[in-house]
Amino acid sequence: MAITGIKGFNDILPNEVEKWQHIENTARRVFGLYGFSEIRIPILEKTELFARSIGDATDIVEKEMYSFTDKGDNRVTMRPEGTAGVIRSFIEHKLHAQDQVAKLYYMGPMFRYERPQKGRYRQFHQIGAELTGVTDPMADAQVLTMLCHFFAELGLTEPSLQINSLGCPECRPAYRQKLKDFLRSRLDSLCDDCRRRYETNPLRALDCKSTGCKEATADAPSVLDSLCAGCAEHFVKTQQYLKETGTAYEINPRMVRGLDYYTRTTFELVTGLLGAQSAVAAGGRYDSLIEELGGPALPGIGFAMGVERVVLLLAEQEFRKRPDIFIAALGEPARKEAYRLMCELQRLDVSVEMDYEGKSLKSQMRRADKFRSRFTLIIGEDELGRGNAVLKNMDEGVQEEIPIGAQEIAGRVKYPAR
Ligand SMILES: [Zn+2]
Ligand SMILES: [Zn+2]
Repeated sequence: MAITGIKGFNDILPNEVEKWQHIENTARRVFGLYGFSEIRIPILEKTELFARSIGDATDIVEKEMYSFTDKGDNRVTMRPEGTAGVIRSFIEHKLHAQDQVAKLYYMGPMFRYERPQKGRYRQFHQIGAELTGVTDPMADAQVLTMLCHFFAELGLTEPSLQINSLGCPECRPAYRQKLKDFLRSRLDSLCDDCRRRYETNPLRALDCKSTGCKEATADAPSVLDSLCAGCAEHFVKTQQYLKETGTAYEINPRMVRGLDYYTRTTFELVTGLLGAQSAVAAGGRYDSLIEELGGPALPGIGFAMGVERVVLLLAEQEFRKRPDIFIAALGEPARKEAYRLMCELQRLDVSVEMDYEGKSLKSQMRRADKFRSRFTLIIGEDELGRGNAVLKNMDEGVQEEIPIGAQEIAGRVKYPAR
């Protein structure tokens, strides 16, 4: 019996991987325009880091982490998200000493022990970004605009942006109490999870998917009515910046996010295209996290997107890479010439395929079709005698006999005449 992979841990195979590369390249390019640099952090961190940052009473820390004791008796965890590690690294390497405004992005696998379902796996991938050191809502707007810009660059009209404010340590406790008072008489209608979290994390009932919780919280007090003056002003200014640059959004006062460290602005990019309304990217401001993890008192804001979900959104688009040119050759001398030409073109940055096994022209052309090459170059015996070959533009359906020369062919393939 062959050994199979582990449930919830997927291979990303050729034909699918081009979509991933396209998403990653687009992120690198767009985030670069906003001055963000990549940071690469380890997969394994001390368990304590996640317990302290994400929060003991969250689903992630309570139930979903891949934690174990290593051979040195250290309690370690495979990262379930990226922000904690980025901030840990930011503090450890004193990046704030160079510039307290750090703009960092990361991409890579994350690990959570969840029930695998479409678009949700135990090893899943995130692309995320963090901006530290700016209290002004311009930072919130910049991060949101960059995220929307990224999705627009992918040619996606979904997902759409929803924003909320969760207040700050000054005003959130009062709201929490108000919500607890409201929920107290409705505890019997709440689901088991929400009843259990009533003391530790009552806000979660607001975004719970269970029908009972939805009904019980339908007329719950809105967090936006409880914001202190500072938080209210921050929320208004964030929206002004978004409006001024044409970044569309909706306000969703029931969005609470599952992590403890968020303050003020929180946001999700949601879509209805992947079944039930669901988030493709999400994030928020975390003005006390850096200090709580032992760093300076600097604010921060960031987001993470689920790459698997972005891939699903792109599912209808064709991302299979097409070779620039397929070379078909008839007869042994032409085959040798084709091979020489292929290597030369590849060195000139042209992607080339040919049939390595000297099959019939018909079978070579079938292979060219399969690759969907943009051009086909046919080297027949007659043409070769004249030092020529036939170049066919497969998209336009036009062909011409041209001299065999790598530079000449590379030029025609890279800059096809219209
Ligand atoms: Zn506040
Ligand atoms: Zn519930």
